[in-house]
Parts: sequence; C-alpha cells; structure tokens
Amino acid sequence: MERILISKTPENKGQNVSVSGWIWGRRDHGKLIFIDVKDRTGTLQCVFLPNNKELHSLGDTLRTGFVVRLEGQVSERPKGMVNAEIPTGEVELQVTALEILNECVTPPFALDTDGLELGEDLRMKYRYLDLRRDRLQKNIRTRFQIIQFIRNWLAEKEFVEIETPILTKSTPEGARDYVVPSRLQNGKFYALPQAPQQYKQLLMVAGFEKYFQIARCFRDEDTRGDRQPEFTQMDMEMSFVEREDVIAENESMLIGLVKELFPNKKIQETPFPRISYAEAMEKYGTDRPDLRKDKEDKDLLAFCWVIDFPFFEKNDDNTWTFTHNPFSKPKNEHMEWLMKKEKIGEILTTQYDIALNGFEIGGGSIRNHKPEPLRKVFEIMGFSEERIASNFGHMLTALGYGAPPHGGIAWGLDRLITLLTGEPNIREVFSFPKTGDGRDLMMDAPAEISEKQLKELGIKILDKK
Ligand code: ASP
Repeated sequence: MERILISKTPENKGQNVSVSGWIWGRRDHGKLIFIDVKDRTGTLQCVFLPNNKELHSLGDTLRTGFVVRLEGQVSERPKGMVNAEIPTGEVELQVTALEILNECVTPPFALDTDGLELGEDLRMKYRYLDLRRDRLQKNIRTRFQIIQFIRNWLAEKEFVEIETPILTKSTPEGARDYVVPSRLQNGKFYALPQAPQQYKQLLMVAGFEKYFQIARCFRDEDTRGDRQPEFTQMDMEMSFVEREDVIAENESMLIGLVKELFPNKKIQETPFPRISYAEAMEKYGTDRPDLRKDKEDKDLLAFCWVIDFPFFEKNDDNTWTFTHNPFSKPKNEHMEWLMKKEKIGEILTTQYDIALNGFEIGGGSIRNHKPEPLRKVFEIMGFSEERIASNFGHMLTALGYGAPPHGGIAWGLDRLITLLTGEPNIREVFSFPKTGDGRDLMMDAPAEISEKQLKELGIKILDKK
C-alpha cells in the first residue's frame, strides 16, 4: 500500500491507508495501546486493539524513536477523545499491520519539549535528535522559506546567483582569517572568505551587473550569542547604482519578505527611518539603535538605516584603519580629502548599515570603482607599496579595466532569521552550529590530523596551548 502523509489522514476517513514515521509517544489504557506516530507533516494517534493478539504484542514492543510503517483504517475518534490542538485531532488509525523499520536506543533527552531546558552541550552532541523536535524543525524549514523567498525575489529582478570560491586569499573584513594549508604549494595557505567582497566586485568588472549569493562566510572571532565562526550572508552587488538604489532594493525585499512569510508581524515605520552614525551615537549610544516604540511587542519590527559613518578610525598604535570596508567609496564631498589624504578622521563613507530591533542585520556601501582612490585608502592605512601590490594588486588592476560604478550590501542572514523567528540565540536557526568556543561536539571538530598529513603539508606543531 502506498504511503500517505500524516497531514492527509483527516481527508481519508474510513479508508485503509499506510503511514510511516517515528514513535513520538505511547500511552497504554488497559488493553488498548495508543501510539503517537510522527512524520514530517504531523502526528497521528494510532491504536492497537487487543483482538489481534500477534499484532498487539508486536505493538507492545514499540518504544519512543522506533521507525515504523503502519497500515490501518482512519477512524473518527470517539467524542470526548478529540484533540483540538492538532490538525489530526479528530481521527486515529486503527492499526491492522505494523512493520518495525528500525529500533531506537533510549534517547538522551526528551524530544517533545522545546529543548531550552537542556544543557547546550548535550543538545549539540546529539544534534540530529535535537533537530527532530518541533521547534527546530520549524526553524530550519522557516530558514529555507526565507532563503527561497530571497532567491525568487532576486531572480525575478534579474539578479544572477553566482558561487564564489571558498579556498581563497585573505580579504579584510576586520576579523581573523581561517586558514587552510596547501599541500601542492607547500608552506602557503588559503584563507576562507570572510565575505565574497572582492569576488563580487570583480563580477561587476566582468559585466554581470546584478549579482547575489547565499554565501557562507568564515570569521575567526571569539564567538558570542549572536555570532558563529561560519555563517551565511545574503550577499549582493549591483552596477550603475547609487546608495539610494541599493537601499530601495533591499528595503522592498525586506518588506515583501515580512508580508509574505510573517504576516502577523508589523513593521513600525516605512520607509525605514534613516539616522546618521553621529546622531545614533549621541541619542542612543550605539550604531544599531532599537527604535521599537513598544519593546514588549514580540511582533513589532523596527528597521532603520544608519548612514554617514566615519571611513577611518585610529588603531591603538595611532595608525589608521577602516571602520567597515576598505573598498567603500567616501561620500562624494569627501573624495578630495581622501585623494589628498587630509582630514582623514573627518572623511565619511558611503557605508549604510541596517539595524532591526537593536541588532545589526546588514551593511554595505558604494565602492571605489577607480584604482587611485582605493590605493589611497591603503596608503592611509600605512600599507607599503609592496604590500598593496601583493595583497590588492589584482583589485587595482581589475578596476583599471573599465570597472562600472557599483555598490552592494550583505545581510547577516542567520541573525535576521533569529529575529524573525523570535529565537533567543542564533544557534537555534543553524542546522549544525558550533559551541561558544568554536567546537562541533558531534563530529568532534576541530580535530588533530595524522603525522602523515602534517608531513605532507610541511607543518610542525610547536606547542599546544
Ligand atoms: N562585505 C561586506 C560585509 O560582509 C558587505 C558589503 O559591503 O557588501 O560586511
């Protein structure tokens, strides 16, 4: 008999059907055995009657987590037994056949709770079980819907999704790189991308005009509640645009996304308010202000753009560094200062950040599309000619080949999903997140590698901290 999904059982009253799934719970009432079976679409109550002895005693061996295929008749539940809380609450399956597809050892924790009562280490070690719980099933599926929405929306607007390399070279986004030793080029290292920044700009030089990517990024930072060492950005870049074009494109996509997938949520203000960095710092003491008028309202979304950031800030050793992105263009009225390398602390960048309810969920800028201003940025940062050439020579060269004016943005997709799903922690919207100290407890990563591998790579471990 062909399998039907549990969500379809109410439409099949009186029919003989077959369902498959996991045993989610069990209650014995005298001679009757009640089993809850769960598949990806819902839970169904199944009853083993005492009349068929063989079937009844097989049913008696079922434990939570067993994987089963059941056949039986979908019947209306007796009045008073209806469960209005679930979509299949008025029916049950009177089991006529049972096949145990797999057994399950006793799970290390209950799966019918939200899991937040448990220590995280245990949840991470058995993440594949943790993911079975309803809350996480919902989060991961919502994540997929959001990504699908973005893909459809941008494809509709003629953006092209282009994958860029993971094995690459250091690109400055203000964090440490994860590095990968090269076997074929002994003694050399790839860096994992902190963002696809340079590649997406090079795609503009290549003439794609509208790029996006659901991009995996890697930043070796001390992890916090709202950070993971590897995370996902909605990364985009557009040619022949000004700041207003990028802002408008992103604002309409965010509004569209909320309307379609989170119709219960209210956006406090559209167009999203704009606030300068200086004003944000003065009024709210942060560059990601929480503008919600009612902070108790779980469905209120207060987006805002923060603009007019300083381009440079001082390092501890009195040298200059960029505040956001070295590839950004200064505001037009400050281009002259950049070119003359004067009033460095007063140069404002075209950077725009977007904040939601007090969290930064994205940022981007219009870029220097000519080589000379980009060179000046690196000079201001005190980079030598050689360093500029070896680290960024390819960018300077590429911009010399007719780079169009361009700009873009990246959203921290995980953080946005966390806020939209109302989860307390970013790890709740990842399939397999790392712990606070960057470990995968289930796979036991990072792990040591063999002497042979080290030798091939030409690497010697000096001392383990
Ligand atoms: N590359 C930037 C980042 O990851 C985003 C951008 O400027 O487009 O923060």
